[in-house]
Amino acid sequence: MFYSYNYVAMKAESSSSDTITFLGTAGARIMVANQILASGGLWLNLSGTEILIDPGPGCIVQSSKRKLRAEKLSAIILSHRHLDHSADINIMVEAMTQGGFKPHGWLFAPADALDTEPVLFSYLRSYLEGIEILKEGKSYSIGNIAFATPIRHIHPVETYGMSFKTAEHTFAYITDSRHFDGLCHSYGAELLIINVVFLEPRPPIDHLSLPDAEHIIAELKPKVAILTHFGMSMWRAKPWEIAQRLSQQTGVKVLAARDGMRFDLSQLNNT
Ligand SMILES: [Zn+2]
Repeated sequence: MFYSYNYVAMKAESSSSDTITFLGTAGARIMVANQILASGGLWLNLSGTEILIDPGPGCIVQSSKRKLRAEKLSAIILSHRHLDHSADINIMVEAMTQGGFKPHGWLFAPADALDTEPVLFSYLRSYLEGIEILKEGKSYSIGNIAFATPIRHIHPVETYGMSFKTAEHTFAYITDSRHFDGLCHSYGAELLIINVVFLEPRPPIDHLSLPDAEHIIAELKPKVAILTHFGMSMWRAKPWEIAQRLSQQTGVKVLAARDGMRFDLSQLNNT
């Protein structure tokens, strides 16, 4: 009797909380190729709806290690087809659908991740409930969770960031992009996750640098900003120290993501 009461209480608690688990914080080739940091993407649990974003190399290892259960996923979202965001898409679809024996779940991806050279093997398509193509300015839903892809990023392949709305919170994910006017205006939210690859701007390469991130945070003033997807220059400069400095400079609480870090969106209520 006592046991079942506790079980119900535990279930209620776990299904009402909103969390984001960082299955990796590595960005760019050398960090990912050497696994200096992990590169498994983001695992969302939003009031019990579980969503995986950008399953890069090692996602299956990082998620299993943390007892995150792929078969509970309702959807997998790819911001773009680059390997550090999509390498484990096939195994994660296989795991989500238990080898195809329990077909379910949705895949969201830009058209160019699926057309001429699809990142998903064709035999896995039938394991899914469906595939939705991401487009600029469109909104989507997964259960009671809504998300939008407000603007196409400037990056060598078709790329979209996302802004999410849950019953209680909003958060945005600014994935890989060159900085451009209009990028930050699309991502107003309580929590902002930003992929910051470079410490200093490297103009020919379409990635955000630390000064870009500072500009975006100062402009959008979220309650909390989380830096992630670190290239070697960011990693050597100690992202946690950078985050502390940025907090002082912008007045926004800035955190540096760590591999395995779980951010509970209820923390936004106290900020
Ligand atoms: Zn990329």
